[in-house]
Amino acid sequence: QPRVYPRNPALKVLAFLAALLLWTGWTDRAAAEVILNHSLCHAVSETLSADSASPPPFSCIGDPQGYQRGSLWLRTNVDTYPVDPRDLVLLVHHSRFDRLKVSFTYADGRSLSQEVSSGNFGSHWRTGGQIAFEAPLRDARLLSITMRFDRLASANLLRMRMMTRGEANVQATALSISVAAALTLLLIGALYNTTLAFSLRRQFPLWQAAWAGCMLVWGTMWSQLHLFIVPGLAGAVSAQTCTALSCLAVTMAAFSAVMALDRQVLPELMRRITLTLAAAVAILGIPLTFMRQGPIETMAAVLGALILGVLIGVALCLGWAWRRGSVEARTFAGAWSLPMLALGSVQFVDTNTIFWGGGSQLLVLFAAAWQTLWLAAAASRTHARLRIEHDRARRAEAQAHELARRDPLTGLRNRRGFVEAAAPMFDVNRSGASPLALLLLDIDKFKRINDTHGHDAGDMVLVTIGNRIARWEGDMCKVARLGGEEFALMVAGMDGFALHRFAQSVRKGIAECNHAEAIGEGPVTVSIGVAEATPDSDFRELYRHADEALYSAKHEGRDRVVFYRGENAGHEAG
Ligand code: GH3
Ligand code: MG
Ligand code: MG
Repeated sequence: QPRVYPRNPALKVLAFLAALLLWTGWTDRAAAEVILNHSLCHAVSETLSADSASPPPFSCIGDPQGYQRGSLWLRTNVDTYPVDPRDLVLLVHHSRFDRLKVSFTYADGRSLSQEVSSGNFGSHWRTGGQIAFEAPLRDARLLSITMRFDRLASANLLRMRMMTRGEANVQATALSISVAAALTLLLIGALYNTTLAFSLRRQFPLWQAAWAGCMLVWGTMWSQLHLFIVPGLAGAVSAQTCTALSCLAVTMAAFSAVMALDRQVLPELMRRITLTLAAAVAILGIPLTFMRQGPIETMAAVLGALILGVLIGVALCLGWAWRRGSVEARTFAGAWSLPMLALGSVQFVDTNTIFWGGGSQLLVLFAAAWQTLWLAAAASRTHARLRIEHDRARRAEAQAHELARRDPLTGLRNRRGFVEAAAPMFDVNRSGASPLALLLLDIDKFKRINDTHGHDAGDMVLVTIGNRIARWEGDMCKVARLGGEEFALMVAGMDGFALHRFAQSVRKGIAECNHAEAIGEGPVTVSIGVAEATPDSDFRELYRHADEALYSAKHEGRDRVVFYRGENAGHEAG
């Protein structure tokens, strides 16, 4: 059973550090942190009022209505909260609005204001999508804070918190570290997956890389790090782009998970429904991205339900495929479990105040980093395993190839190996560069050896002669045992007298072999038939001629060399 879970120690350390960071963020709820709610005392003007206009009368009951085209004032009395008004920071998460003006009103009747507008957050922007307003230090007592939002898209989606400067600094540092860590992991994941996609030439890591890249851009924009480079993108444009990117990311993640599963292991209907839901998230994301007015909250709720549907769909697909034995499903289940829990919990638990104000977005960012690294590690492990199996199969194949061309008794080539080894010599012969000849050897009266001393002794004789013949093997001479007690030498570069002397030396060399151990004293001789190749000879013809010469050698009394001398004309030559 192949292991598909990553066991990379570096990844484990990273995962552990990330978990530790998240745990700290989860448990470290700020002591002196006040969460403001959109139903503070509010005033609405349905059209944009002049900058200096004083707000209409405030109401402290119900939710504000009809502010999307105009201005919304939210006011809070500072003295009702346990935060020291002399040391106060107001943090507002960026959202869709044109302008936000925060006025601090003091006991001496003076009011000091700070403002940001879409495209210009000045020095107010902070990591994690927040905008900070520090109450100016004055001798007079701070009484209240009034926020004026122009063309705010949704008061319900506002997230506002008050805390001390010290607390705000601690949170900013923790949040910056977490965001940097998550984005770095995502960047590594995106690069890793891209490399994998190109080296494996597979589509699935490319989906993963695209997804990780999408999350990386989203994370950068959500945390407002992009304002370092393009401060003009501050505000509504970024908030709207984040919506588009997060919808796209959910769709791409779902597609990559479902597409990686084999069609056969999934019911077609289940697959279709999940992909349709995922596509619906992307489609609903389009109007939600561009909306500045209208039922944004309702749409957001529908989108939340759709995302939950996608998560359940993907979970069912993975579970189903896993039960049908899909390896991909197991890999993906591990990778998806964390983002699913993260995204799912965002729908049920209000995670917005945890993680130093980073909230669910930070959770999702870490989950995404986890997923993309997990999958990349799993893919490279699978690849490594395939590679090892591939190499092993190649070696076995090479071995089988070699075995099929060797005679097991003597270790010499068999007929098949001999024909292959001789083929290049024929090519050289055809070009006329060098002569070629075949020596066919047959042991004399071998049957008698078997009959007298037994088959095993016969085998020993064959091995001894085989070893002697192997010594002639070289660049210019290929040797083989063609079968039974018949051997062959294909000799290049010799003809005429030289060839004749060589054939005689082969005959004598074999006759001088010592077979005392197998059959006692006494020589074992061979008869040799020699055929010289013409430029247009092939193996079959050469063999036939050598065999004819060998027949003559046997006929003429054995233990001799006979050259082939044309059709029906073999005669002794030694
Ligand atoms: P000749 O001089 O005419 O070649 O006589 P011979 O006895 O050598 O010829 P023949 O072809 O009649 O006999 C060959 C014998 O070789 C027959 C067979 O039992 C034996 N033989 C073939 N292969 C093997 C082998 O692998 N091991 C042993 N021990 N004997 C073999
Ligand atoms: Mg024989
Ligand atoms: Mg024979």
